[in-house]
Amino acid sequence: MNDVNAMLDRMRDESTKAPIVLKEAKESGCKVIGTYCVFTPTEVIRAAGAWIVSLCSKKADPISAAEEHLPRNLCPLIKASYGYAYTDTCPYFAMSDAVVGETTCDGKKKMYEYLNRIKPVHVMQLPQRLDDRAVSHWREEIVALKEWLEKSFGVSVTDESLRGAIHDANGERRALNNFFALSQLDPPPVNGLEIMMVTDWTRVTFDPKEVVRRVDELTKALRENYEAGERRIIPGLKRILVTGCPLGKAVEKTIIAVENNGGVIVCFENCGHYKGTVDLVDETKHPLDAIAEKYMKTACSVISPNEGRMKLLVRFADEFNIDGVVDIILQACHTYAVETKRVRDKMRDERDIPCISIETDYYPGDTEQISTRMGAFMEMIQ
Ligand code: SF4
Ligand code: SF4
Repeated sequence: MNDVNAMLDRMRDESTKAPIVLKEAKESGCKVIGTYCVFTPTEVIRAAGAWIVSLCSKKADPISAAEEHLPRNLCPLIKASYGYAYTDTCPYFAMSDAVVGETTCDGKKKMYEYLNRIKPVHVMQLPQRLDDRAVSHWREEIVALKEWLEKSFGVSVTDESLRGAIHDANGERRALNNFFALSQLDPPPVNGLEIMMVTDWTRVTFDPKEVVRRVDELTKALRENYEAGERRIIPGLKRILVTGCPLGKAVEKTIIAVENNGGVIVCFENCGHYKGTVDLVDETKHPLDAIAEKYMKTACSVISPNEGRMKLLVRFADEFNIDGVVDIILQACHTYAVETKRVRDKMRDERDIPCISIETDYYPGDTEQISTRMGAFMEMIQ
């Protein structure tokens, strides 16, 4: 059998050392761009020769400091992200030369106005519907980003460098999609916490070729072991799909509550998981057209109407043979909170699958309550 636990442990360990890798790259002259959203066209940034770090903060530590400037009744992700920058306690933010943001939800786009006082922020104006006009507008924003990067870093972003970056990013998406698809097996070979750990590792592994190599290696090892009879996850657990706001360390309490109460998470639709990888960039088209088209398919709740998310949920419910859906809403995230009824209705009416909405924040105070609710939900599924 392949030692997949050692492979997973190595990824865990490397994730903790990522700031050292980034520091060494900075010292050798590498430019770094911080990002906050799945809409960010990473290919353009990489084509400009810069490294990308995700700055979406998932811990409660800097929230109280952020509340000196931001309202308390704001999504914890926005407050924590700003708080880390404001208190200068995030090594990734400190090492970023600049930030690229998008006008997604109201709280985030207004937060960028304050963030821009700390570090240069280039804000892309995101259209909030899905049609040809939106794609054409987004293409213009991508061109503006390209020109800003060229001017800021004194580089030239060519069609050739864009094609190379698209090829690399598609490779990462394919590798992750193959890894995610393993959980279509029954029982799955990995649990939800392990899936989260692997995707977190990809965000702090800055060489796309290394991401592809290691994720492919892990997927192959897990599949070989499975075919040889290894069952890492006990059979008979309820197969859960997680959707909603972006995830992270602070909302692991919900993932743990599912997996401690008779469930196993087999699919995450959220950002940082399938939402960002499911669609590839078309490598046969002009790179700027293809990038604009791919990103405007992102099934985020800031898009209205957001039919893409409903279609994805039904598709994943079928592909992963789902028993229940857990919709995680961060407090004060209005767009996902409003969509939760649509998610519940869609799952019930089209697939007879029950759905539970969990509204939470980054603090541990509701951990027990979430666990109790999840226990009742799992019993209800049974
Ligand atoms: S949920 Fe929407 S706004 Fe938030 S990171 Fe994802 S794509 Fe961006
Ligand atoms: S979770 Fe919701 S409120 Fe928070 S940044 Fe994302 S879209 Fe905005």
